[in-house]
This record gives sequence, structure tokens and C-alpha cells, in this order.
Amino acid sequence: MISRHHLKCPGCEQVFVARLGVEPTRGTRFYLPCPLCRLPIHGSMSNQITIDAEMLSGQDAELDGVPVVTINPFVPSLYEADSFAPTGAFPTMTLVQILGDDTFLEFKSARDQALDDGRDLWPPVRMLFQYYLQGNAEMFTRTAKKLFELKQEPSTSHQRTSIAYQALAIATTRIMGSTGTRGRQAFSLFATKHTAAIDRTMEHLRVFRERGQTSADLERDLFTELDRFVQQHESWEMGLLGRFVDEEKKAAFEELVLFRDEFSTVSGLYQQGFELACKCLWLLVAAQNTVERGSPDDFGDVHPEITIVPVNKRPTTLKKFDGLSNAQKIAYVAQVPGWESFAVLLNNRRRNAIGHATAHHDLQTGRVVSDKDPAGMTYLEFLGETFGVFEALSTLAQALRTSRVAASPDFGLPE
Ligand SMILES: [Zn+2]
Repeated sequence: MISRHHLKCPGCEQVFVARLGVEPTRGTRFYLPCPLCRLPIHGSMSNQITIDAEMLSGQDAELDGVPVVTINPFVPSLYEADSFAPTGAFPTMTLVQILGDDTFLEFKSARDQALDDGRDLWPPVRMLFQYYLQGNAEMFTRTAKKLFELKQEPSTSHQRTSIAYQALAIATTRIMGSTGTRGRQAFSLFATKHTAAIDRTMEHLRVFRERGQTSADLERDLFTELDRFVQQHESWEMGLLGRFVDEEKKAAFEELVLFRDEFSTVSGLYQQGFELACKCLWLLVAAQNTVERGSPDDFGDVHPEITIVPVNKRPTTLKKFDGLSNAQKIAYVAQVPGWESFAVLLNNRRRNAIGHATAHHDLQTGRVVSDKDPAGMTYLEFLGETFGVFEALSTLAQALRTSRVAASPDFGLPE
């Protein structure tokens, strides 16, 4: 719905009408530029709407003929739109016009489903995973029985690990939806390679066990980060939209602005998530190395371009791989056919732009820019990148499961 507010700019004192899109929210920060002096006026919305400007009563005579602007923190909107403009009058109509009826309905249904699952499915899954991390088997089992129809109670450590990660996979998959996802295919390729690697040599399993035993911190950090993403789901979920927009329609979105004022929150999620995802990439290269060359440490003679990984940086063991930069790790993974998608989900060029000390959300243009990347990207594209990092984290969490299950105290180390 749209609510109308008669506002007086606290700077130039221009009076104007703001048509503000409203949706149920746990808390949203937004901004609206003054139509005369372009001062960004900040506001927030939860149960009530607060705007840092004087609100005038609707009957005032000075309201005749004042400018009208449209602001929507939930749907990309056209700022100049007034009630009479054919495009952009209602932000959702703008989306229908750009996407077409069918795609719009698919998008809307995927988005509503994801928001519902973030609100309703995540809390019990989080509880289950917390009991798993605490090692509280009794409460874990009680919670798991409420969530799933278990054929039998998990009685061993590795069974609890499997169930905990399965619940995590179900929740994160539903929050991502199925359109434009890349992680699922990448994970199934990993699963195939991992199985083949174990078949080829016990050395692979030994490395996965040893590393799995020291991965308890990584596991906790991954879960904590996924939880932070879902707690803040409302702030980045519109990144989903980019997955429904094909190339020729991308230009239309350059004109629209998503008036959210949450850059610091979302860029924090993005950067921390990016770092963590890169810490998990060893799982993939280890499987690849064993399948191709019989040892998880053997990188052979297959390396990314010298400009990315100089000859003297080429790793000869997984331990040395751990010491590479994020860009170098991503390059090793993305050179494997079928895993190119990791270079898309974890776009290092964008990571440098977003993580740069001067990166900020320019409220005049609605773009995220930095000294390094003055053209930057739209805020919507920035949310798309954040969405990609969430997908990478969710996918790599499932790869970590194989290592954590293998490291369970239920199994001895292979001879
Ligand atoms: Zn003003």
C-alpha cells in the first residue's frame, strides 16, 4: 500500500507530498531526497513511520500544487512518478510493466515464500543447529522430532551432524528459491567428485577427517553468519529481483531506485560472508585434486593465469592453498568446469569495490560507489551481490558437512 505524507524539507523548507510504499516489516530504514534541494531526508518504519521532517496536516492551503514524489523502500521505484504518470505511479505496476505479467507473478510468489520461510522456518532450524553446536543431544532430538518425521531417533554424533546440516540446507534453499540459483549444481558436482575421491584413495578421507576435526570454529562461524543473514533478510532480499531480469531488461532497472538506507548493515554482511565463503573453498579444490591426481594436496600443473597467481605462489599443498588471497582461491575453484559459478557468486572485483574504505551509498544517485569504482553499481545490484554471497555460504556449508560427518568421533581414522 501507499501512504501519503505532506512534508516540509528541514533544509530548504520546500513543502511536498511523499507517496511512501509501506509493507509489513520488522524494521526498515529508508531515505527520500527533497524534490527541490535534493537533501536526503531519513526515515524508518516498523509499527509506525518516522520521517525526519515536519509533517503538515493534509488540509493546509499551502499544499496546492506542491511537488509529488514516490518513494518505496520495498520495491524499486521511479522517484519522479506522480499519480498521473503512466509508469511508476505504483511501484509494483512498474515491475509488472518491466518484467511482464508471468515473470512478475513468479517473482512475487518466490519473494513472498522466501520472506515467510525466513520468518517462520528459520527459527526452529536455528534452534536445532544451536543444540547441535552445544552438543545437547537430548534437546537436539526433541527439536528434530518436532521439525521432521524421523523414522528413528538419531543415536550417533554423525547422524546428528547430518540432520543438523540437512535442516540448514532445507531452510537456506527455501529462502533462496529456485530461480537463477547456481549453488545446487555446483554442490552436486562436488558431491560426485567427493565420492569418487574417497573411492580413489583413503588419503582423501584422512585429510577430510583431519581438517573436519579442526573445522569446529569454521562451522560455528558459518552458522553464525548464515543466521545474521537471515535475521537481516529484509535488508537484502530484493537482491532476488536480479535473478528474474534478463539482459535486455537490465537497462530499465538503472532508472529505478530502491530507497533503503541500510548500506552499512548489508555491506557488513556481504564482506564477512565473502571472507568466510573463501575459507571453505579448500573443500572443493581438495576433491578436484584427488579425483584428477590422486591426492588432495596435488595441484599438478593446472593453475590460473599468472596475473592472478604468480608462479612462486602456486600452492603445492592444501595448507599453502589456505594462505592464498581470496581472489586466488576463487580462481582455482572457478577454473574447474562446472564451478565457474563461484566466480559469479563471489565476484572479487565487486568485493574490492564494496569493501573499499571509501565505498558508500550515494543517496543522490542511489548507487554504491567508491574511489576505486566511481561508476559503481546500483543499490539493487549490490543487493544481488549480497544474495550471491548468501548462496555461496549456504552451498559451502553443505560441502563442509561432508568433512564434519567424516570427522565424527563415531569413526576411527582410516588405516
Ligand atoms: Zn529541500
